[in-house]
Amino acid sequence: MGMLRIHCEVCGKTWEVYARDDWKSDNARTCPHCFESIDRQTWEQSILPAFGAMQDANRELMKDYCGYHIQKYKVDYIEDYEVSAMTERE
Ligand SMILES: [Zn+2]
Repeated sequence: MGMLRIHCEVCGKTWEVYARDDWKSDNARTCPHCFESIDRQTWEQSILPAFGAMQDANRELMKDYCGYHIQKYKVDYIEDYEVSAMTERE
């Protein structure tokens, strides 16, 4: 099961929300370090559908290749600044 890693630019820390967690709870969208929280409307209308769409996409990949007995592909979305941090390290 997937998870979201949320970077809090207020305190510079991160937290994770797992698919099995209660998405609708205020806890899920609140930074556990500084207690700032993501706007409820943005969370429900943008973040959750995007997460669901990625999960669905991976389920489709799994279905396409289920005859192989292994899941051949999984997709992670990595935000831009992490991508540049990775390429800088190379
Ligand atoms: Zn924070």
